[in-house]
This record gives sequence, C-alpha cells and structure tokens, in this order.
Amino acid sequence: MKKDLYRKIPKVDSMIEKEEFKTYLNKIDQKIVVGIIRKHLDDIRSEISRTDDLKTLESRVENIDNDIIDKLEDLYRSNLRRVINCTGVVVHTNLGRSVFSEEIFNEIKDVLTHYTNLEYDLSKGERGSRYDIVEDVICLLTGAEAALVVNNNAAAVILALNTLSSGREAIVSRGELVEIGGSFRVPEVMRMGGAQLVEVGTTNRTHLEDFENAIGENTGVILKVHTSNYKVIGFSKSVDSADLVKLGREKGMIVMEDLGSGTMVDLSKFGITYEPTVHECVRKGLDIVTFSGDKLLGGPQAGIILGKKELIDKMKKNQLTRALRVDKFTLASLESIFRKYLLESKALKDIPTLRMIIQTEEEIKLKAEKLYNMIKEKNPHANIKIEKCNSKIGGGSLPEELLDSYAVALYPEKTNAARIDRDFRNLEIPIVARINEDRVILDMRTVLDDDYEIIAEEVNRILK
Ligand SMILES: *Cc1c(COP(=O)(O)O)cnc(C)c1O
Repeated sequence: MKKDLYRKIPKVDSMIEKEEFKTYLNKIDQKIVVGIIRKHLDDIRSEISRTDDLKTLESRVENIDNDIIDKLEDLYRSNLRRVINCTGVVVHTNLGRSVFSEEIFNEIKDVLTHYTNLEYDLSKGERGSRYDIVEDVICLLTGAEAALVVNNNAAAVILALNTLSSGREAIVSRGELVEIGGSFRVPEVMRMGGAQLVEVGTTNRTHLEDFENAIGENTGVILKVHTSNYKVIGFSKSVDSADLVKLGREKGMIVMEDLGSGTMVDLSKFGITYEPTVHECVRKGLDIVTFSGDKLLGGPQAGIILGKKELIDKMKKNQLTRALRVDKFTLASLESIFRKYLLESKALKDIPTLRMIIQTEEEIKLKAEKLYNMIKEKNPHANIKIEKCNSKIGGGSLPEELLDSYAVALYPEKTNAARIDRDFRNLEIPIVARINEDRVILDMRTVLDDDYEIIAEEVNRILK
C-alpha cells in the first residue's frame, strides 16, 4: 500500500509544467518555486516512511498541489500585517504600541523615499551629526540642556549607566527593581550597563535616609525607576525624585530617573491620574531622564535621554552609542511627532495614541452605535449589544487606570466566543478582541476610522 503512495507522488519536472504553478513564475524565481516543490515532496516521502496512518497519508498525497500553492501564496504575504485592535488597550506592546496618523506618515514619506541630510550639515557643506536633527526641538519642549535618542528606552538606561556608572555603584530602591515584560529587568539591565547594584530600603517602603546611608566612595549614580506596570499599595513609601536631587547635590552624585512612558502632556485634565510630565521631571533638576518613544509620546520605538550637556556629551562619545543608534526612519518620525507638541492642542488631535486616550465616554458610545448599526443593517437578527466596558492605556503606563469605554458585544448562538476569537485572528486582516465569559467584546476605544467596514463585514459573516 505504501508503495502505491510513493508512486502517486509526482515528479518535480512535471509539477512545474502545470498551469497553476506556471503562473507563479511571473512573481517568484523558478529556482525558488522548484525548491519549495521539491522540499514539500521530500517531506511527504519521509512522512510515508515514518507513519502507518494510511488515511492521513492518502489525504496528504491528494492535497499536494493545494498545499504547495498555500506555501507559494504565503511567500508574498507579509508576516507583519495590519490588525484591528478591539482590545481597548491603547499602547499595546504586542500590537505595535503607538500608531502613526496618515498626516505623520505623509510627512516622513518624502524623507524616506529620497536622499536626506541625515549626517550632512547643509550650512557648512560638511559632515554633520544625526543627533542634531531632533535635539533642539526636544530641548525646547522639555527644558533639558541636551538630548540624545537611541534605539529604545532599555538602550537609553544601559547607555546612561554604562557612561556614568560603569564599574561603580548605582543605588536603587528595592521597591523599584521592576521587570517590564521579561526582557527588561532593572537589576539585569544595570549589570549590562556595568553598574554594581546597591539595593536600599524594602519592597514597600524606602526612605531618603536609606539612600543617604548607602552613598559611599564608589557610588556613581542614584537611580529612580518608574514602577510602570505595578503599584505597591497600602503601607508604602517611596522617595520623590526632587528629594533625591537635593541629596545628590549635597553629596555630588548624579541622579537619574527612568520614567518609562514619560508623558509630555498633563493628562489629569482629562480625568487620568496625575503623573509628572517630562518637562516637570527635568525641572526638578534630575541630571538624566530617560523615556520611551512609542509609549505615551505616541511615536516610533526609541529611547530619549535628556540631561545635563556635559553628561549627554559623554554619552555621545561612548562606543555603545554607535551600536544603539537610530536610523532615519526613526528620526524622521520622531521629529514629526515632537513638532506636534509645539502646540498641545495639535498633539492631542494629531497623535493617535493621545487622541485615543482622551476620547470621552460619549465619543466612544457614538463609535459603538455606528458599528452596531452597520452590523444590524445587514443582519437585523445579529445577537449583539452596546455595553459599557473598561479600557487600559497599556505599555506599563498607569496599570490601575481603567478608562470608561463602550463596546459592541457579540453573543454567539450557533458557535462560541473562543471559536469566534480564533476565526477573528485567522482573517486576512485579523481582529484582536477580548473574551468575557461567553461573549466577545469589541472595545471601540482603539478602533480606527477605516476599521468599521471590515469589522462589520466579518462579524456578519461569522455570526451567520
Ligand atoms: C517600558 C519601560 C522600559 C523599556 O522601554 P522600551 O522603550 O520598551 O525599551 C524601561 N523602563 C520602564 C520603567 C518602562 O516602563
């Protein structure tokens, strides 16, 4: 029986002559197509030798053509794809954090499709520095003396510690030795930076004296870390960076703060818990402040380092900086984002991350009604409801903060929520939703203008 199966496997040469494969030769080199066919046929031969499940093997042999076509199709479908975010988490690290607006995209398009003055000083006609491109605008907006942009905030912290505290001690509160998403653990990042970690205080309470007592001859830096994704509540105390700055001045120590998200706008005006803005942190007198480009700032992945000119100049000369440097894509988009902040009302309107965070409940309710009506128009019997829900800012910003929001909830009848969730994820443009008991929640906070049609169509197809 197995012999018959082997015999049914076609020859590569005969496969490539088939019309359905020939059409691919306009798009993919023959060598590659032949390689994929050969590999697939080899795999089937080895499956036949390994297993005795004749039924499965027969169907594998029958489906050879279709399976190869699937593989060829996959080749020019990109793995990094648009998805629709119905989770309500605005800065969703798994879904790419911040989204660019069409306007920002158009602003950077010209730069990306042409040569640029990335490292060319146009006024002198000689070599310039890529770091000058965004430094002035960042300093103007944050009040910092100097600024440097690197690959991400993790890189910013490593570079700062490596430059200022390598081989020396860095003092941190035990309450701030956080882990952010597995790949950023403060103690390990400090080790990477070459600093010797000195822990002070306890998990829930750290006092100024704890820092004071730990300062010794070999202290390089006092480090404060935003606890981002968790909060110690109850009997707790941490030291404000303003007090650390005062201590640092007295003892001649560098004081640095990793802000994590770092917000440029005081969001408490919009009912969100107060967090000091980047500008306010700089004003406290911190020597170095770092934050992410793609969290609350709403820009590309980047790490922004602000600080005293003398210290930033040292970092610019560190060999690590070359390895952590950003490309023109990052600089172009970051510059565009920062320029929006020249007028706060413009930033709030034009930066999608901010716009989605400050949306009011009423605005989101209107969005829910729009989607609800689009679904009902085509399928009046669809079992869906408009419901209140809570969304989150995400990206480790304000972990406890729940934002009032509205959702369209799907109550499946012939299928179940887990199944719908899976079907959603397998779509050409996947939809990522939340499941709650047996309903699927589409939180409208993070739904973009051109998502509606697609969601409505897919919901109707799936609920049918
Ligand atoms: C998110 C975060 C980081 C890591 O920032 P990336 O830009 O993702 O590298 C570091 N520290 C804190 C406190 C954070 O919240």
